[in-house]
Amino acid sequence: MDSQLRSQVVFHLTGRHGDPAAATALPRGLRPALLAPYRRLQDLRHDYPLVLADGDGEYAVSLTAVVDGALRAVAPEGSSGEAMRKRALQVEARVRHRVTAGERRKLSAVWQSVVEESRPATEPETYQRDMSAVLGAFACDGELAGCDAGLAARLVRHAWSVVQRERARVALARIEALTIRLENILRADHARSPEALTGPSLQGTFGPAHRDLFDFAAMSRLLNSHVPRGGLSTSRRLRIETALAALRTQRFFAATGQENDALGAQFIFDTTGAALDAFLQRLPEMVALHRALHVAELEAEGLYAEGTHDAILLAIDETSLGATDLQFFPDFLVCTASGVAGANQALLEALSAGVPLKVLVQLDELLETSRPGRAHFAFGMRGAQVGMAAMSLGDAFVLQTAASNLVQMRDAVQRGLRHAGPALFAVYAGTAASEDGLPSYLVSAAAMQSRALPAFVYDPGAGPGLAERFALANNPQIDTDWPIEPLTYADPDLQAVTEEVAFTAVDFALCDSRYSDHFAVAPRSDWGEGMIPVAKWLQQPPTDPSAAVPYIVAVDEADLLCRLVVDEQLMRAALRCREGWHRLQELGGVHDSRIERALARERKALAQQASVAPAAALSTPAAEASVSEPTVPAAEMAAESARDPDVACIETLRCSTCNECTLAFPQMFAYNENQQAYIRDLKAGTYRQLVEAAESCQVSVIHPGKPWNLDEPGLDELLERAKPFL
Ligand code: SF4
Repeated sequence: MDSQLRSQVVFHLTGRHGDPAAATALPRGLRPALLAPYRRLQDLRHDYPLVLADGDGEYAVSLTAVVDGALRAVAPEGSSGEAMRKRALQVEARVRHRVTAGERRKLSAVWQSVVEESRPATEPETYQRDMSAVLGAFACDGELAGCDAGLAARLVRHAWSVVQRERARVALARIEALTIRLENILRADHARSPEALTGPSLQGTFGPAHRDLFDFAAMSRLLNSHVPRGGLSTSRRLRIETALAALRTQRFFAATGQENDALGAQFIFDTTGAALDAFLQRLPEMVALHRALHVAELEAEGLYAEGTHDAILLAIDETSLGATDLQFFPDFLVCTASGVAGANQALLEALSAGVPLKVLVQLDELLETSRPGRAHFAFGMRGAQVGMAAMSLGDAFVLQTAASNLVQMRDAVQRGLRHAGPALFAVYAGTAASEDGLPSYLVSAAAMQSRALPAFVYDPGAGPGLAERFALANNPQIDTDWPIEPLTYADPDLQAVTEEVAFTAVDFALCDSRYSDHFAVAPRSDWGEGMIPVAKWLQQPPTDPSAAVPYIVAVDEADLLCRLVVDEQLMRAALRCREGWHRLQELGGVHDSRIERALARERKALAQQASVAPAAALSTPAAEASVSEPTVPAAEMAAESARDPDVACIETLRCSTCNECTLAFPQMFAYNENQQAYIRDLKAGTYRQLVEAAESCQVSVIHPGKPWNLDEPGLDELLERAKPFL
């Protein structure tokens, strides 16, 4: 082995440079080579900023789309409209720069300000007229929002307020219509009462011009003798008056013509705890309004039967309101961030509490240490956990995405906000990683591209099965492990070279300078056969770990291409990331391992059938037998049911192939031909590692037994930790 490869292998396996003095410092401004074209993002037309549109149309629209639409409407076709288009795009670019610098005002105000500021010396009137025409043709106006730390909260709040306005309109129409009908019932009843038919009362119902024309005493006598008697019973009047009071005094929706936004703000919280408290506080009022609506509807239709409905309405209490009933009321919106210890648990409890919570969780970190004291870290642990765990609740709408993808997910966001039940929006903003340079739009886009945070939607209202409910939304090239893009660069002879490059989780880690210790630059003179692209290495790690090292291609500040060797710790994290992606692929129906296994069996059976005589093949239902579940070997079953708790073992048949143990301790654990784990060599590791593997196993099938090396340090503590798994 040459000395360059040897030092690369040392770095890969240990994360340390064998000879620190010889180590080449990482160039400044490194980024994955595929991100090189986006160095000046604010100069490129892309999805951001967004216009958070006022009104009831599309609630979030890309600035690019707004300007394109306006130009289509007002710019003359062909060369005569060229100057107008060019100028409008220049103004758009300046608006984009301003938003990058923190501008948040409405598009119309910023557009006008930029037009003022950039008015040319020649033909300023034409310029002003053209840009005003473009402004006048904008399909919408509203606050501008860049892809920054505040985007997810602003967009979800805005979408929430649009949905609440819709809901308020429907609710108020119902409340006001019922109020009028109940008032009419009471008014009609009053009109028949003796008080209403007295002379002075009758006189009061006429205008001043006619008050002296009639004999109201005679009119009173006449009417009193002919108007039918028998108005509302006391109990009915009381019931109607009570319902009417509840409708008139409800505090959930502002009356028509008044501002609903201030009332809506009372339903937005920073924590799920505060939202739950507020819900419990308002629940009695909700119950009262719910009951009043039912009474009002029955009374308005004349269908109220005291014998039946009294008991039913009396039974309505705080436990009676189901998801559909609660959909009448405003939802409780929570905008919070992940990262607080125990937050996920509290969040899941809140989502399963039967409260119409809509929760935005902003994920700030994707690359995290998996557990204190453990020697590995993983991608998207908390984020992926919270999304997947919320999905297991069954009735919660779940949307996970990077902020860069929010504009594509806007309809799904609104669907979640309209869902009759809880909803979770887990959004990675890319801000923690971008403090040192890369725009957060690029960092969040890189997270999604690299599978570090795949986007998905779980919509319980979409249908009965996973096929309808679960969608791998907008992830690129969903049937591959990593998206593959062409990379064109100039070789040392200045010839253009194009090669296919995968964008992996390792590339995403390079976007965050906090993880630069996991990379070592390999000068061009050290490039050799022993360097394998990361994607290829992940597909098939070399059997001899000292024979090759994985690398990614990156560019420095000057866009010079370089190779970076990656240490083993980061490679293990990338493997975990890929396994997480595989699990999501299976949920989304891509490369479903059960279907693929059944197909393989089917193909094998068909091949066997083809090789035997046609008559014999016809008499054997081989294909049918081949798609049934594999039978468990009896000896294996017996061995697992009669296991000795003192002896370390794995219930291989129950292993869910999550890769946890095989990746963490590959010398100790391996997969059999069914891709299920077994103990390859118990003594290749320590008892501590075995106990940690048992603790990590999601299906608790690793049983550590008793330690085999009684001199291993910390055995008392380890035996205690092993107890639940014996
Ligand atoms: S941790 Fe458990 S489920 Fe995962 S591979 Fe190992 S034995 Fe199987």
